[in-house]
Amino acid sequence: MQAFEYASPATLPEAIALLGAKWGEADILAGGTDLLALLKDYLCTPKRVVNIKGIKELGGIAKTAAGVRIGALATLDELLASADLKAYPALLAAARGVASPQSRNRGTAGGDLCQRPRCWYFRAGFGLLPQYEGKDLAVDGDNRYHSIFGDGPARFVSASSLGPTLVALGARITVAGPKGNRTVAADRFFVAPKTAAQREIAIQPNEIVTEVLVPAAGRNATYEVRQKEALDWPLATASVVLRMKGSSVAGARIVLGHVAPTPWVAAQAEKFLAGKSLTADVAEQAGQAAVADARPLSGNAYKVQLAKVAVKRALLAAAGVKA
Ligand SMILES: Cc1cc2nc3c(=O)[nH]c(=O)nc-3n(C[C@H](O)[C@H](O)[C@H](O)COP(=O)(O)OP(=O)(O)OC[C@H]3O[C@@H](n4cnc5c(N)ncnc54)[C@H](O)[C@@H]3O)c2cc1C
Repeated sequence: MQAFEYASPATLPEAIALLGAKWGEADILAGGTDLLALLKDYLCTPKRVVNIKGIKELGGIAKTAAGVRIGALATLDELLASADLKAYPALLAAARGVASPQSRNRGTAGGDLCQRPRCWYFRAGFGLLPQYEGKDLAVDGDNRYHSIFGDGPARFVSASSLGPTLVALGARITVAGPKGNRTVAADRFFVAPKTAAQREIAIQPNEIVTEVLVPAAGRNATYEVRQKEALDWPLATASVVLRMKGSSVAGARIVLGHVAPTPWVAAQAEKFLAGKSLTADVAEQAGQAAVADARPLSGNAYKVQLAKVAVKRALLAAAGVKA
């Protein structure tokens, strides 16, 4: 890896002052489970690495009047152990899915949201919108793990498993920068870049994610489809939050993960479910509605079926209905 200056500030203002105004000048180090690999592969070559682990106010998980506050430095293991998060099985399933135990022990909530895409063209140095000899690598090359939704040009899939769940739960993400704090709704945090210079998350190079606020939620669940129970990211996930009126669905939020450059809101499925009693048949039809707009690439049509099944199973789990 390229040599860099290392800073370990104890306060948030110090950390912000150490970051650069442009991407590439400095990188934030939390658990390091992604950043170290990016440094070793020369995908990040910052002049300075700013370790934020010494900043106490970025840690912890606590109940507040507005919901549960998750500090950016809370590890995935801390999420799983938190009594305050028991009402959010959707979030816990996403955190539990991150393999291995070492990654959950070191990896932080903020780092999970800000981790870079796993797209193999990106990881090989071709950027977020990979081109080679006039060809779009994600369209013309091996795209078995790429997106099945959206018009491009971005075809990678958002790597964060917490992201889709937080979008479904209506969470807000707080970001601190030189001008103070601002909060971003989770569904605006993830961005599908339109140009090679754009990032996939809505933060500036000199901003730090400080916390996530998760409001009280209805019945919720996440279902993940994975190729193997090992060190890997899911192929497709669905996170659902249901507001029930008796046995009918008064409102549903359904968000797919790992199928698009951002968490993907399945609006058609949400509309379809309104007012319906949740049976296995209805859940299956909602799954169908969720993938009606899918536009798979040459090698990933199989993910359409996975996403459909994920929606069905997440809905049934949230409603407590047996398949
Ligand atoms: C084998 C393996 C399997 C995995 N499987 C999954 C999976 O299934 N689902 C999933 O979601 N993830 C998965 N991960 C990724 C893992 O969850 C993330 O690597 C981890 O959460 C990142 O947290 P970190 O604290 O280590 O971040 P770091 O590696 O320290 O940072 C990651 C990135 O985020 C930036 N960053 C970190 N914290 C902040 C902050 N507070 N504000 C702004 N920027 C910040 C860093 O600069 C860097 O670019 C897997 C990782 C491994 C190694």
